[in-house]
Amino acid sequence: MATVLAQSVHVETLHVFVHGIVQGVGFRPFVYRLAQRYGVTGNVRNNEEGVAIVASGLPEALHAFVAALESDAPPAARINRIDIHPVEEAANDQIEQSFHILPSCTGQRPSTQIAPDMAVCADCLREILDPADRRYQYPFTNCTNCGPRFSIVSQVPYDRPNTSMHRFAMCADCSREYHDPLNRRFHAQPNACPVCGPQLSWHDCTGRAVAGDCLKSAALALANGQVVAIKGLGGFHLAADACSAQAVTLLRQRKNRPSKPLAIMVRDLETAASFASINAAEAALLCSSEHPIVLLACRKKTALAAEVAPGIGTIGIMLPYTPLHALLLAQPTTPKALVMTSGNRSDEPICIRNEEALQRLQDLADWFLLHNCDIVTRVDDSVARIMAGQVRLLRRARGFSPIPVALPAATADILACGAEMKNSFCIVRNSEAYLSQHIGELTSTESYDFYQESIEHLQQVLGFVPEQTVCDQHPDYLSSGYAHARHAHCQKVQHHHAHIGAVMAEQNVSGPVLGIVLDGAGYSGDGTVYGGEVYLADRNGYTRLARLSHLLLPGGDQAAAQPWRMALSLLYQHLGEQALSAEFQPPALLAIEQTHKQFIGQMMLKGLHCPQTSSCGRLFDAVSALLGLCLYNDYEGQAAMLLEEQAMSAGDEVPSAYPVTLTTEAGVLIIESSPLAALICADLTAAVPAAVIARRFHQWLVDALETVCVELREQTGIDRVVLSGGCMQNRLLLETLIRQMHTRGFSVHAGALVPMNDGGIALGQAFIGGYVCV
Ligand SMILES: [Zn+2]
Ligand SMILES: [Zn+2]
Repeated sequence: MATVLAQSVHVETLHVFVHGIVQGVGFRPFVYRLAQRYGVTGNVRNNEEGVAIVASGLPEALHAFVAALESDAPPAARINRIDIHPVEEAANDQIEQSFHILPSCTGQRPSTQIAPDMAVCADCLREILDPADRRYQYPFTNCTNCGPRFSIVSQVPYDRPNTSMHRFAMCADCSREYHDPLNRRFHAQPNACPVCGPQLSWHDCTGRAVAGDCLKSAALALANGQVVAIKGLGGFHLAADACSAQAVTLLRQRKNRPSKPLAIMVRDLETAASFASINAAEAALLCSSEHPIVLLACRKKTALAAEVAPGIGTIGIMLPYTPLHALLLAQPTTPKALVMTSGNRSDEPICIRNEEALQRLQDLADWFLLHNCDIVTRVDDSVARIMAGQVRLLRRARGFSPIPVALPAATADILACGAEMKNSFCIVRNSEAYLSQHIGELTSTESYDFYQESIEHLQQVLGFVPEQTVCDQHPDYLSSGYAHARHAHCQKVQHHHAHIGAVMAEQNVSGPVLGIVLDGAGYSGDGTVYGGEVYLADRNGYTRLARLSHLLLPGGDQAAAQPWRMALSLLYQHLGEQALSAEFQPPALLAIEQTHKQFIGQMMLKGLHCPQTSSCGRLFDAVSALLGLCLYNDYEGQAAMLLEEQAMSAGDEVPSAYPVTLTTEAGVLIIESSPLAALICADLTAAVPAAVIARRFHQWLVDALETVCVELREQTGIDRVVLSGGCMQNRLLLETLIRQMHTRGFSVHAGALVPMNDGGIALGQAFIGGYVCV
């Protein structure tokens, strides 16, 4: 073949550059196999930009070869761009006679992308369950299509010495696979087998290693209702039998987590379907290479303990995403559903090191299932929900980080420091925005350390230290403090402007837009707390055009933890001092001690520590508490979730909504919420079911926003709407809002793979701040 090529006058040569996630995902062997298929000669190698190919062959063959680069790419690859440069009349002696894979060339500033961690592939799964395979029952099996990446790499280029697998020398068999271009494990950096790779160990709660079959021992402990700490891909989990009320209660007590829903892991899709109703899109998401926790509608009367997600009709389910999980769940004694919650103490980040876990989790776990391969960086499980027909991430971490979001051109290289709750940060380089994995609440020293470590890690993985910083306007956020410490002249971006920016960046929406932000709390600088607004916004700036009417926030942040305070505040807004006498209060509030209510009443009367807020999250709290669904939040968003649940349970027939009242104040449209207090109380007196009231409230909010946007469209001529903020995690609200806005002829954009909650703030900061910094 080579001789034919060299003699042919039709032979052409192309230089092809492939950009995106193309290293560590089996791309070079894939190119090699394509070259064989199409009779193309030349070479392929990794470089700083991605993969560089020199390809010579007949024009038709080259054409097919290039087309297949994209259409047949390995499952884990993500191609952003392919650049093709024809080489003029390549001298015959420069045309290679065959096709070669060349070693990586290392440069000063590596810019290629690191793949996220991937769930175990079907081929590897088959091997570990095949008694004849040399990897039978081996929990660290992986290949170029699956396995750990981001969580084990310490710096680029992504080669074994730069991962935590560096201390395991490959055996002859593994080495042969690794060097064979036609093998699925060619250059699979974490390649391992029972002979040469990491091993499991089983320890009691004092850390003492106990001999025996680790997987069998773990299965037995779980079946006996005990709590097992399991070292996974991006950190530790605490596992317990999800069908045992006793086991789940024990775990809750130890973790001091009274009612926050816990995610479960089950063996396969079929088992998942026995616990939840799953549509095609949800099934595809459960089985995707990302394998996130998927929020699903619980079936009634299942074997699951009610304690897994008390009072909630949704359940977070994930399928086994490492061989270790798959093997554990395949043990005959393992319970059919396991609670798998982050292995941490509350407010602390998830544990990743063995010694750290043995120390910090010793009161939480009865047993430890460990292994001797280090996790370099923490990566939590991602959480997703299908809403309005799309995958929407509520927590973006494993499987998704660090895939970058491509920003429109002209963005400075910056570090955006994120918000306080659900923190993530974002590093922008060459217009590519690398949103970090979920860091969590920046409220403890440990989580702040994790934040700083993660920034350093991502900088190292990207081989890049940004010089400019962007942060929230809130002066007390630790992330803002960090930004200032790094760069005194850091750029500040308003919280809700960043929320809108995150969606504009992800969805590639150019401004200006009408941005609806329904959120918990956002610092405004004017002394009130924002959270239920409609803005006219673009990348340059924003103007508030509409908002929810103000409620008092008795005790500031305290009010967010105690929805009954907001219920009283909503009554107070409508009735004034009368709201404080029991005869005007709905039954739910009678459960609160009169002295507490008097105390809050006095605060409101005197205006002591009662900032005004337009927060939509707090309005949900108020209604939820008025209905008696939730007087105290055990976890963030509980009252709102319970209200959504109620509204969903009202069935398909939509009851009439509460009427909308709009006023104007200083040119800003105000959606009046005070009539709600009277309307809801009247319904309660008339014994209207809570589900119907909850549904009417949801519908009221959607109708109000629709009316406002129609009016603002007349004023501004703008019909592009962006939806963002934490309240958009409410499926009923989001879907109804999108549907009604579409009906009114708006184009509507909402976050999908970037969370609409504060987890997406850093991307918005980068998008807006980076623009201003240019
Ligand atoms: Zn695999
Ligand atoms: Zn081996």
